[in-house]
Amino acid sequence: MNMLEVIRQGAHTAQRPRPKHLPCPFCGDDPPLAAEIAGHFVVACENDDCAANPQVAGLSLAQAWERWNRRA
Ligand SMILES: [Zn+2]
Repeated sequence: MNMLEVIRQGAHTAQRPRPKHLPCPFCGDDPPLAAEIAGHFVVACENDDCAANPQVAGLSLAQAWERWNRRA
């Protein structure tokens, strides 16, 4: 199982709704996916047509979204 599949599974446990956020910087897709994985929160692009499928992680869902929006 690759990382993207792990993220997709984790998305079922992620908190919703999602806060205001920017689209994927690579493919422009919206919205990115947020998931909780092993105590870490990940925001990632799940677009199958995206060449990069970027992801960021944080210690909280809010921190993960903040990092996604900062492109950090
Ligand atoms: Zn993308």
